[in-house]
Amino acid sequence: SNRTFTMIKPDAMKNGHAGAILDRIIKEGFRIVALKQTKLSAEKAGEFYAVHSARPFYGELVEFMSSGIIIAAILEKENAVASFRTLIGATDPAKADEGTIRKMYATSLGENAVHGSDSDENAEIEGNFFFSGLEKF
Ligand code: ATP
Repeated sequence: SNRTFTMIKPDAMKNGHAGAILDRIIKEGFRIVALKQTKLSAEKAGEFYAVHSARPFYGELVEFMSSGIIIAAILEKENAVASFRTLIGATDPAKADEGTIRKMYATSLGENAVHGSDSDENAEIEGNFFFSGLEKF
């Protein structure tokens, strides 16, 4: 598929990077299919990251992702999932390539500025977690 799903996480929102990140995403050729500013409850964050529920960092992740406002968006571009993961860089910003969004804007491994879906299937599931069919253009 040509779509992926992203979130601008609470650290990047609080640090004032949302505008720069969205500008970069658009300049890299992604089209915005859907976009909203919202806040996850701890319950909703836990549901979104349920795949990580057995990991030691799950509690920290849920607490962080429900700690502030986020932006959620569905993006469209050829080869969207892989192309977007290249743009954001490694999970740990210390290991991310120069010029990637995480290298430029992330705080730490846990507070790493953005999310990007890891497969076409998860992009579809994650997009549907936040947006109804009528909100996708
Ligand atoms: P994302 O799913 O957010 O795009 P990712 O696919 O790069 O990130 P995952 O391994 O799926 O990374 O982990 C999901 C998220 O959990 C990471 O983005 C990060 O915020 C957090 N995380 C991962 N590993 C750790 C860790 N060791 N300590 C704290 N937080 C972590």
